[in-house]
Amino acid sequence: MEKIVIAIDGYSGCGKSTTAKTVSQLLKYLYIDTGAMYRAVTLYFLDHYINLTNPKQVAKSLAEIEVEFERQGDSENSAVFLNGTNVSHRIRSMEVSDKVSEVSALAPVREKLVAQQRKIGKRKGVVMDGRDIGTVVFPNAELKIFMTADLDVRAARRQVELLERGQLVNLDKIMENLVKRDQLDTTRSISPLKRAQDAHLIDTTHLTFSEQVEEILNLATSSMVKMGHHRKITQDN
Ligand code: C5P
Repeated sequence: MEKIVIAIDGYSGCGKSTTAKTVSQLLKYLYIDTGAMYRAVTLYFLDHYINLTNPKQVAKSLAEIEVEFERQGDSENSAVFLNGTNVSHRIRSMEVSDKVSEVSALAPVREKLVAQQRKIGKRKGVVMDGRDIGTVVFPNAELKIFMTADLDVRAARRQVELLERGQLVNLDKIMENLVKRDQLDTTRSISPLKRAQDAHLIDTTHLTFSEQVEEILNLATSSMVKMGHHRKITQDN
């Protein structure tokens, strides 16, 4: 089968990452959680008290930051490393969630991370999730998905996710954070979150996790077949 790029975008907390991760495992594709990259940069800025309105400080810090993904032993999960330190847990804190949309709205931050994401995706066979993957990072991706879900469902799912990581966070606080991030992400001037014209819309409000995965896998198979046909036609002519 032809290898393709699968771009998954959508609102905060609608299950993009868990779905994308499972799809990538089933297809034996590489999975890149671009939100984790923005979160890692945010963590660095918080740890170093970087003033976001000071372009010099921001540029200097970005030059010092290296974000990498590393497979953990036999586990399918890859950990996020910030300058060599595993920050997979710390980047999920509410402190980071509260600041990340401000950081991700900065042009130099996006330039650095988008360049890294494009480099990774060049080899195809990748599932990447975020906010601008189908619109900016890979506008020519063979398959684009735009995920959405009702706010209360997203908040409840996020609460369970945080609980599983040992953090008990009030539902109202989670909802407030999701609304704030959606607002900032959709209205920022650079690469705002929006559905690419050719993205398939998947509303996960009433879908089970397996249904979400299955829907994307079906679309992926069709895209691979289409790409194979296309290649054959161009080779034959
Ligand atoms: O996906 P996750 O919710 O972890 O993303 C955290 C934040 O990172 C988003 O709210 C958004 O501000 C930013 N982000 C982005 N572009 C991406 C991925 C994430 O701006 N491609």
